[in-house]
Amino acid sequence: MEIKVEFIKGPTKNTNIEVGSIINHIGERVGLHGSVYKIRRMSDFAFVLLRTKREVVQCIYSKDYAEFDLEVLKEESCIKLTADIIKEDRSKSGWELRMIDVEVLSEPIAESPIVINNKLVDTSLENLLDYRPITLRNEKERAIFKLQAGICHGFCKYFLEQSFTEIHSPKIVSAGAEGGANIFHLNYFGKDAFLAQSPQFYKQMMVGVYERVYEIAPVFRAEKHDTSRHLNEYISVDFEIGYIESFEDIMMMEVGMLRYALEELQANYTHELELLKITLPNLEKIPSIKFMEAKDLISEKYNRSIKDYEDFEPEEEKLLSEIIKKETGSDFVFVTHYPTAKRPFYAMEDPSNPHVTLSFDLLFRGLEISTGGQRIHSYKEQIQKMKRLNMNIELFETYLMIHKYGMPPHGGLGLGLERFTSKLLNQDNVRLSTLFPRDINRVTP
Ligand code: ATP
Ligand code: MG
Repeated sequence: MEIKVEFIKGPTKNTNIEVGSIINHIGERVGLHGSVYKIRRMSDFAFVLLRTKREVVQCIYSKDYAEFDLEVLKEESCIKLTADIIKEDRSKSGWELRMIDVEVLSEPIAESPIVINNKLVDTSLENLLDYRPITLRNEKERAIFKLQAGICHGFCKYFLEQSFTEIHSPKIVSAGAEGGANIFHLNYFGKDAFLAQSPQFYKQMMVGVYERVYEIAPVFRAEKHDTSRHLNEYISVDFEIGYIESFEDIMMMEVGMLRYALEELQANYTHELELLKITLPNLEKIPSIKFMEAKDLISEKYNRSIKDYEDFEPEEEKLLSEIIKKETGSDFVFVTHYPTAKRPFYAMEDPSNPHVTLSFDLLFRGLEISTGGQRIHSYKEQIQKMKRLNMNIELFETYLMIHKYGMPPHGGLGLGLERFTSKLLNQDNVRLSTLFPRDINRVTP
């Protein structure tokens, strides 16, 4: 039997130009499309701001040349526009965009309950998040996530250059990797399962396969408290590398990846950086301090008594960052050699002092943005440690295959994408750099 098929004939008839290329069309009549962001009526003409993919572009409406009535335009209508690009030396861009004709593709049936077309969305955090599908249309709001995309793009470019392989590990898992109570339980067809707190076990397994792997994906933490730094679902930027000489190799790799991201923003995201008035931090050298020394330093400089010798209180992270900024000018600081008691069972202990691990956190402007370290690769050592911690070894049988059947010295880290973005943008709440945050009070939108 003869099968009848057709082939897509593309490209479509859409010949609309991009805002970035307007400069090449001076003196021409062109097509553009976008949403009507704002209409500003003056006495005998109007400014119509058109929101396109990336830029908001100013158009001029005047009865002198327009072939349509301004009344057909509503804010948030999606339109196809025919416009004349006129040379205009008095304008910063060197051109003026005159609206000649429009085709309205769709129009809103209601007025937005939140004003989204001012410089800032002037409302509470609650409203900002409740109305996310529309508040994200605000020019500055969407710039945040364009920058976040740029950060990821920079990371990926770096990983590619460093011969990493991208992986996608499962998010439904049979055991938690990070320990602690903040794990979501699932009823998995009558069996126990969990939402992944991190891709830890899988990225280690994949080091045995590809030596260097990375993943940028959601992870889940059942944080029961309402803080400005915790989400219940966040994007974890994870990498894991084999054949390391020391855990400092991991820190070097992190510096490289962060530098690349900032370079990417500097090179290709100036539009958003200028819109949000962001100056990028200096990443030339990152100071590093041992955990215990940091504790003592904070206690000495701020005359604080130390309550917890095993972990930082959030306030201490802020204070340490303050000291480091003052002393070295750096917005970043590595803290190394965290106490064994507070690190997971797979963390390698310092051979010269088993009370501390070959691990580190990176603090940025007063907040932990990543945790990493060297992992135990010897089967014997790992089993001994698990026994010491009274863990049920059977539960980790598949994970332990890697140790059993041979693993190189290795380690890696996880970095919270939202935390990094929010600190880079000087925000005081991680939710502001989360598209659709999940927290203890929120699962919508
Ligand atoms: P914290 O002490 O702030 O609760 P953590 O030490 O428990 O964080 P890790 O398990 O070390 O977190 O996770 C690695 C990174 O992932 C953190 O440095 C942080 O950037 C990010 N992260 C961890 N938990 C969250 C969360 N609930 N929301 C957003 N980001 C998170
Ligand atoms: Mg941590």
